[in-house]
Amino acid sequence: MAKIRMTTPLVEIDGDEMTRILWQMIKDELLLPFIDLNTEYYDLGLEKRDATDDQITVDAANAIRRYGVGVKCATITPNAARMEEYHLKQMWKSPNGTLRAILDGTVFRTPILAEGISPVVSRWKKPITIARHAYGDVYKNTEFRVPGKGTAKLVFEGEDGTVSEQEIFSFEGPGILQGTYNLDSSIASFARSCFSYALSVKEDLWFSSKDTISKIYDANFKEIFQTVYDSEYKEKFEEAGITYFYTLIDDAVARVMKSEGGFVWACKNYDGDVFSDMLSSAFGSLAMMTSVLVSPDGCYEYEAAHGTVQRHYYKHLKGEETSTNSVATIFAWTGALRKRGELDGIEELVTFADKLEQATLNTIAKGTMTGDLVLITSLPNPVKVSSLGFIQAIRAELESLL
Ligand code: NAP
Ligand code: MG
Repeated sequence: MAKIRMTTPLVEIDGDEMTRILWQMIKDELLLPFIDLNTEYYDLGLEKRDATDDQITVDAANAIRRYGVGVKCATITPNAARMEEYHLKQMWKSPNGTLRAILDGTVFRTPILAEGISPVVSRWKKPITIARHAYGDVYKNTEFRVPGKGTAKLVFEGEDGTVSEQEIFSFEGPGILQGTYNLDSSIASFARSCFSYALSVKEDLWFSSKDTISKIYDANFKEIFQTVYDSEYKEKFEEAGITYFYTLIDDAVARVMKSEGGFVWACKNYDGDVFSDMLSSAFGSLAMMTSVLVSPDGCYEYEAAHGTVQRHYYKHLKGEETSTNSVATIFAWTGALRKRGELDGIEELVTFADKLEQATLNTIAKGTMTGDLVLITSLPNPVKVSSLGFIQAIRAELESLL
């Protein structure tokens, strides 16, 4: 079979520890034999970030802006222990945070469903994608411990000198107080990312907040979503046969439990924090979850939702056999290759991505899996294989599909 050719480079962002080992195995076994892989490579391994004073991370983000699609391996976010371990010049910021800030994106997380790995909620037949607004609200709050009797006020001083002042509460005794904010521009960006993503996966979009109680703050989110929808996306949604639907957060939670899945759920920052953890555990494991950052102008960065699996890496360094799950990293590659194929009109690349995903799921359905899945599968007599053994089993399955 001739290798599939690519016309535009895919931005390839390498990372750290066990996921870096998996990265190479995936390329060697599942990609390079079949694709004339055209990537622009950025090494975000911690040593390289330190050597370049983190410029490499900024360069990688700009490359994604330039080409539109990137795929990223998990990376270490340094803490005090890592400073010592890697003799770092500085405690460099989270690479994901830097990429997110430059791309101004929203992260979408979707569970990967495989036969034999069943969601806790038995009604869920299709994945539910969570889109979390990653700016403002309680994450950028100002808090105050009220010491005793007194009056709290909300004061805004306009640049033009106009002052608005409202009483919040008249305290008779000690209590607490909190101020939060958000920006119309950030909410509109978030809305656009959500609408674009729903269109790209052709699934309905839900958005929930609590506008009945928060009649200005949450109502503002609801209004901006509606305005962006009506003016920019309504026709496209109708053409694609999907719907946009707003409901109260408590109603959304009840509906999610009763649904079959298969939609995108946009959440405010705190709601997204809470419900993404609930959904990922209810669907199985972080190693069975895809994650993609979508910018409002339509750039995509695909990654796994889990970290660098440090504990497994130390075993690997000692020469011990590991059984690390590569599914999320494989799906990061297939997501990116499929998107590249769609944008460049390369049908074979799209088909290849579909088949590689199918081969991965078939391998699990046939009972061959890594240790983390053996613990949760409902299949009888699963076979636990090594990190490389799993990828090789997928390759055999893939070759039979191609
Ligand atoms: P982690 O790498 O997600 O791993 C935590 C534990 O979850 C592992 O020890 C393992 O459990 C299990 N696990 C996670 N992924 C797995 C996989 N693919 N296959 C099998 N088991 C898996 O989180 P961490 O150990 O807290 O963080 C390690 C490093 O990752 C940190 O330096 C952190 O900064 C970084 N991190 C990066 C990202 C990112 O780049 N997207 C995200 C989160 C964390 P057992 O050990 O019990 O087998
Ligand atoms: Mg959380």
